[in-house]
Amino acid sequence: MTTDQEWLRRAIELSRRCPPSRTAFSVGAVIVGADGEVLAEGFSREVDAVNHAEEAALGRLAPGDPRLRTATVYSTLEPCGQRASRPHPCAELIVAAGVPRVVVAWREPALFVEDCRGSALLTAAGVEVVELPELAAEARAVNAHLLG
Ligand SMILES: [Zn+2]
Repeated sequence: MTTDQEWLRRAIELSRRCPPSRTAFSVGAVIVGADGEVLAEGFSREVDAVNHAEEAALGRLAPGDPRLRTATVYSTLEPCGQRASRPHPCAELIVAAGVPRVVVAWREPALFVEDCRGSALLTAAGVEVVELPELAAEARAVNAHLLG
């Protein structure tokens, strides 16, 4: 059985493939089904210039895919709770997809968004949010150029 840590490490590996940006974080995401099968993967700016990792991964699955109802989304960064470039932030996309559990390494620092509400939005919708702070440094390191 692959552990939460191992899946999140895989998401961190994906985040290293993001096209570089000076105005957005590099994030990786893996969606894993209840039986431990990878349903989809994604990383920031994979599909277009403003694409987010969770969005790229969710976009690979049919909206009503029943496996999403028991899946976990592993994301190196807390899913966004607001965004300028799309009508729905990733936290809303995850709720809409019916995913019951999200595991993150790193909470969004107040750099591009004053106060990230992604986790609060997810929790309010009944999604379990698990943070693995032991992997935060690794997830941050991929974004060191943004953080000075
Ligand atoms: Zn997002």
